[in-house]
Amino acid sequence: METTHDFDVIIIGAGAAGLSAAQMLGRSLRSVLVLDTASPRNRLAAHMHGILGGDGLNPRDFLARGRAEVAAYGVQFGTAGASTVAETATGMAVTTTDGTTLTARRLIAATGVRDELPPIPGLAEGWGRDVLHCPYCHGWEVRGSRLGVLATSPMAVHQAHLIRQWSDEVVFLSADAGPVDDAVARTLGSRRVVIEPRRVVEVTRNDAGALTGVRLADGDEVALDAIFTAGQLHPNDAYLDGLGLEREEMPFGSFIHADFTGKTSNPRVFAAGNITSPMANVPISMSAGTMAGSMVNMDLVTEDFDLAAERIDAA
Ligand SMILES: Cc1cc2nc3c(=O)[nH]c(=O)nc-3n(C[C@H](O)[C@H](O)[C@H](O)COP(=O)(O)OP(=O)(O)OC[C@H]3O[C@@H](n4cnc5c(N)ncnc54)[C@H](O)[C@@H]3O)c2cc1C
Repeated sequence: METTHDFDVIIIGAGAAGLSAAQMLGRSLRSVLVLDTASPRNRLAAHMHGILGGDGLNPRDFLARGRAEVAAYGVQFGTAGASTVAETATGMAVTTTDGTTLTARRLIAATGVRDELPPIPGLAEGWGRDVLHCPYCHGWEVRGSRLGVLATSPMAVHQAHLIRQWSDEVVFLSADAGPVDDAVARTLGSRRVVIEPRRVVEVTRNDAGALTGVRLADGDEVALDAIFTAGQLHPNDAYLDGLGLEREEMPFGSFIHADFTGKTSNPRVFAAGNITSPMANVPISMSAGTMAGSMVNMDLVTEDFDLAAERIDAA
C-alpha cells in the first residue's frame, strides 16, 4: 500500500473555482498541483461584471492575478490536461494528456463547462460580446437597446421575461421553444415583448463585425443590437468517467453531484464551480472553490490525526 503521494491535492482546472480552492490549500501549507488547459468559459468576454470589487475586469487578467496570488503560497501549476483519474489504495492517480501519472491524497475537479451554441451563421462570432447568455453579467451594458431572445428550448420563455427587465424592446425568437400558447403570448404581450415564431437562419453583422439583427427563414430581417441565448452546456468531466461518480439530472443536462461542501460520492474527490453547478457565475464558483479547498484541508487534517494515532497504536 502506498504511503507517499506526489502532492496532498491535485486540482484540475484553474478557473475561478480551482484557483479559489488552491488559495485555501496553499495557505494551509498543503502541497498542491493545479493542472489547467487555459480555456476558461468566459475567455471570449472582454469584461466581467457582477463581481464585487472586480467589476469590469478582463477575465484573463483576473485569473492571471489569481494565479500569481496562489503561486506565492507554493502552489505549482501544470499545463497538461487531465485525461483519466483512478483510485489508488490511499489516494488518487491522475494521468495527464502528456502521459504522466501523478498521485495525490485528494482531488478537486474544477473544470467547468463548454457552451455549445445553435449552429446559426454569425451567432458564435459575437459570443461574450453581443451574443450573451446572462443578463446579470452583461445586461446593464446593453440596457435599453433592441434585444433578441433566441430560444433553444421551451425554458427560453423565462429568459424572455427576464430580459424584459433590461429593455422595453425585446423580441422573442421562439422557433425552438415549441408552440407559444395563448396564456404565454398574453403574458409576454402584456409588457410588449414581441413574439417572432419564424426560424432564424442567420445573425447579420456590419463590416465592423457588430451585430445588426437576424435574418428569418423567409428572408425578412429583424433589427437588433444584442441577442441573449442559452447554449447547450457540456460539463468538462470525461476524465472522471472511470470513477462512476453519482450524477444529478438537471434542466441543463447531467452533472456530477456534489454537496454544498464540494463532496462527491467518492470520499477522495471534491468538485466545485460550473462542473457541478451550471448556474454558477464567477463569485459563486469562487465561493464553491473556497469551500471545497477548506473542506479538503479539514479532511486531510482528520486523516493526519487518524494516521498518527494508528502509528502510535502499532508501535
Ligand atoms: C461569454 C461568457 C461571459 C461570462 N461573463 C461573466 C461575468 O461577467 N460575470 C460572471 O460572474 N460570470 C460570467 N460568466 C460565467 C463564468 O465564466 C463562469 O461562471 C466561471 O468561469 C466558472 O468558473 P469555473 O472555475 O467553474 O470554470 P472555468 O472558469 O471555465 O475554468 C475551468 C478551467 O478548467 C480547464 N479544464 C477543462 N478541462 C480540463 C482538463 N481535462 N484538464 C485540465 N484543465 C481543464 C479549462 O481550460 C479552464 O481553464 C460568463 C460566461 C460566459 C460563457
